[in-house]
Amino acid sequence: MKLEEIFPNINEVDRELAESLSRKDSLEKRAETLKEIRDAISGLENTERRHREDEKNKNKKNQKYCSTYFDPGKYDTAYYFVAKITEKDVIASHDFEPKLYGNCPECNSKIPVIMWYAQTYDSPEGDTWEKDAFMICCDKIHKVKHVASSYRFLSFDNCSSTEDIIRNTLSKI
Ligand SMILES: [Zn+2]
Repeated sequence: MKLEEIFPNINEVDRELAESLSRKDSLEKRAETLKEIRDAISGLENTERRHREDEKNKNKKNQKYCSTYFDPGKYDTAYYFVAKITEKDVIASHDFEPKLYGNCPECNSKIPVIMWYAQTYDSPEGDTWEKDAFMICCDKIHKVKHVASSYRFLSFDNCSSTEDIIRNTLSKI
């Protein structure tokens, strides 16, 4: 019995299956990118709200330090506009306004650099904290810089380093 004779369309089925699977792959990748873009835009809003709430609580309790209650990146990914990029670090803009701009590699528009910050690995042996700077334009994500560390290392453009150290220490307790 020749199956090809019983099912003469088998080659056509194979061809269309391969095509559909590849289209599915590229659609999945596209959906992932669009979700990343959506998450970043919602994330900028959510992180700012968390910081403002934190600020209010801080004022109520007369605390002096930045973000003692909200632990950015610990329980969800925190998003910021980027203020500055140095050789080893990506510094967030603390007033939630765009500060650093770059050019879109596709259309050359001037667009703000944004970033996410999160603890991406948590274990008794060691943690991983990451910052990723990128730009959103032409419905795409354009990577700018990635940094990783084994401890919390978020710092803001307007927090003194002493405050950062105290804040970091407090947030570890
Ligand atoms: Zn563009």
